[in-house]
Amino acid sequence: MSDTIFAVATGRGKSGLSVIRVSGPYAHLAFALFNIRSLKPRRAALRRLTSTDGQVIDEALCLWFLGPDSFTGEDTLEFHCHGAVSVVSRLLELLGSIPEFRLARPGEFSRRALDNGRMDLVQAEGLADLIDSETEQQRQQAIRQLTGGLSREVDQWRAELIAILALFEAELDFSDEGDVDAGILNEAASRLLNLKGQMVRVLATCDRGERLREGFTVVLAGAPNAGKSTLLNALAQRDIAIVSPLPGTTRDIVEARLDLGGYPVTVLDTAGLRISADEIEQEGVRRMLARAEAADIVVWLRTVEEIEAELPKELREISGRLLPVITQIDKRLVEADDLGLSALTGDGMDEFVQVVTELVRDRIGQSGEGAVLTRARQREAVTEAVESVDRALTILHSAGTELVVEEVRIAMRAIARVTGHVGVEDILDRLFSQFCIGK
Ligand code: GDP
Repeated sequence: MSDTIFAVATGRGKSGLSVIRVSGPYAHLAFALFNIRSLKPRRAALRRLTSTDGQVIDEALCLWFLGPDSFTGEDTLEFHCHGAVSVVSRLLELLGSIPEFRLARPGEFSRRALDNGRMDLVQAEGLADLIDSETEQQRQQAIRQLTGGLSREVDQWRAELIAILALFEAELDFSDEGDVDAGILNEAASRLLNLKGQMVRVLATCDRGERLREGFTVVLAGAPNAGKSTLLNALAQRDIAIVSPLPGTTRDIVEARLDLGGYPVTVLDTAGLRISADEIEQEGVRRMLARAEAADIVVWLRTVEEIEAELPKELREISGRLLPVITQIDKRLVEADDLGLSALTGDGMDEFVQVVTELVRDRIGQSGEGAVLTRARQREAVTEAVESVDRALTILHSAGTELVVEEVRIAMRAIARVTGHVGVEDILDRLFSQFCIGK
């Protein structure tokens, strides 16, 4: 039997209400602890939580869930108490006094939900993403994972692989020579091909899915004094980068996380592209180039006074993701094809934000209704399955049946890893340790 765990599920500090959760086989012991009459499952009831010495600790809404019909799949009790630090700490202290109870570890409630089959690994990842989500598009994607968008598709693939395997196995069991009928081979080929098509289509979503989860990066590059920090400050609408008239003072990358049209975008300010004797600055330049290489968009800034400046050679190779911008247009009137702005007066700022948002939207694409891969580990597993199906298709008509069956089995195992049915123990520990306590 597992331990009975408890934790605050809501944020720390003073708030109107807090939720304390208890889950496990001995959850019912909390009734006696707080002197509350037993509760009807799934019915909210207001109760006075009273300690054994007769002290009323708080008045709280109590919810009782009988396993397996609960989030964790175990008996679960929730107290919606007042969100005072004093109330919460006293309740936790008393819960901790029951020998069968202990404080939950981060993500332990969700881990139990997974272990008890209340959700699969993709859904648990969706839950982690939902809690971490900052923008509307991230929320939509996380909710889709949480409600089984990808899981359903993956389960269908697994069922189809099992059905294909059954085609061969029935044939192997009944045929004397071990040869498989040509009709069966053709059916297997067409089903494998069809399945591969479905997997490849979902595989194509991983770039968008991972990017949306992790956020898009925009690097501001350009000579010292081009106006990078000022632009970043204006974008973030708060003072986060040092604005200084001395060239080369923005040595470290300073970043702002923005929500552009529902997409998470991190804008990075960088050291100027100036070759300097100063080692720290060179280090800054080196880091800037590394970030520019990994960035989704590189904004190349030059001031209106340096409008004829040539694109620095370091940035030439990334031309596909380059957005040239002329800054400080308040200083002089200018006719140019490139986008112009003044971070000081705000002229051109709306257009700039709009162009960047459009670029991000183009790159990530509109989220459709279908399944989306959001993590590298999902992508790797599906890629492995596609490769095995591919090999099975190649050897189907030439090699022995055992080899084909083996490839189909490998594909099945890879697919099972996506939803966490096999071989994912190490992933589980890593995933759940990132959750908050109480989730
Ligand atoms: P960085 O080195 O590229 O980060 O450039 P800064 O943002 O530090 O700007 C360099 C100088 O140009 C500072 O003195 C800023 O106040 C000034 N500056 C930046 N943006 C503008 C602008 O839009 N208009 C004007 N007139 N000055 C600006």
